[in-house]
Amino acid sequence: MMNTVVMRAEKDNLESIAAAASKLLLAGELVAIPTETVYGLAANAYDGEAVKNIFKVKGRPQDNPLIVHISDYIMLNDVATGVSDAALRLAKEFWPGPLTLVLKKTEAVSEVVTCGMDTVAVRMPSNPVAAAIIKAAGVPLAAPSANLSGRPSPTTAQHCVDDLSGKVPLIVDGGHCDVGVESTVLSMVGEHPVLLRPGIISIEEIRKIAPDAQVSHAVVEELKEGEAALSPGMKYKHYSPKADVVMVEGSLEAFAEYVGARAANGVFAMCFDGEEESIGVPSISYGAKGNGESQAKRLFSVLRAVDAIGAERVYVRAPEDDGVSLAVFNRLIRAAGFKVVKL
Ligand code: AMP
Ligand code: MG
Repeated sequence: MMNTVVMRAEKDNLESIAAAASKLLLAGELVAIPTETVYGLAANAYDGEAVKNIFKVKGRPQDNPLIVHISDYIMLNDVATGVSDAALRLAKEFWPGPLTLVLKKTEAVSEVVTCGMDTVAVRMPSNPVAAAIIKAAGVPLAAPSANLSGRPSPTTAQHCVDDLSGKVPLIVDGGHCDVGVESTVLSMVGEHPVLLRPGIISIEEIRKIAPDAQVSHAVVEELKEGEAALSPGMKYKHYSPKADVVMVEGSLEAFAEYVGARAANGVFAMCFDGEEESIGVPSISYGAKGNGESQAKRLFSVLRAVDAIGAERVYVRAPEDDGVSLAVFNRLIRAAGFKVVKL
């Protein structure tokens, strides 16, 4: 087992943290880093051997490609080619920030990053710690979420410690992630932009810049058997706590009655702020009702917390169907293995 060091990033030690992290990265090591979305498990995107290690450490399926993180537009040109005007407009509007663009890859990007595909997913994170580390390394960093595959994504350094202690030399602690769910992924290589994974940047916001953007049906529906995934990550269950998760659509009253009738040891509920006392089983709020941003920020912490208290079954109040909540709905429906009860 490797000794894992946790370094807390503060404003006044950013330079030394970035230097320590980039030294490890350039030596082919993996480092868990904070970003504004979730924590990432980073490797030098040009170092195929280092990137292979990401898949090994996470137990990530070999056909699920990684996002490449850059700190400037020179790096964009190093990793992507034939970038369309629409893609550049979107980048100018939303970068640095939680939007990932799927583009044609260059030779420089290791095939291990893209799982042999000729496209690469790229984003420029806004988190100052992430940006400083990429800049100090001077190379783009391939980084999926820093959790063990299948576990909820990490939104605190402690979540990374829980999953990766003894497996990576360094975890950089940047506090709680601002956004809390992974980036919006938008394919820019087809006739129209296609939303492959919803995030805090909603399709409505994207359409203000790219009016012809579409939403892949796989965002909210299970892929049919044998159907090819545009984004390989869409076919995995993902985000699942150990507990059996069931999403329940309906009013609070109907929810409380339904769950109350199923009260038993190990049965818990996830609800909205202020509803905790009105449900007949122990309940944890995952955000304010109708406020997708607050739900996104807390969702993964709460999914990890229900595991920690030994929940066997968790009934979850479904989020409303609006902009940001689509990102929350998309994670929950996967955590629930697409089990939804409509009351
Ligand atoms: P993660 O980094 O764990 O949040 O997962 C990255 C997501 O981006 C997964 O859903 C991948 O399938 C998706 N992705 C990465 N590269 C590509 C690509 N070249 N084309 C389509 N989707 C991609
Ligand atoms: Mg992930």
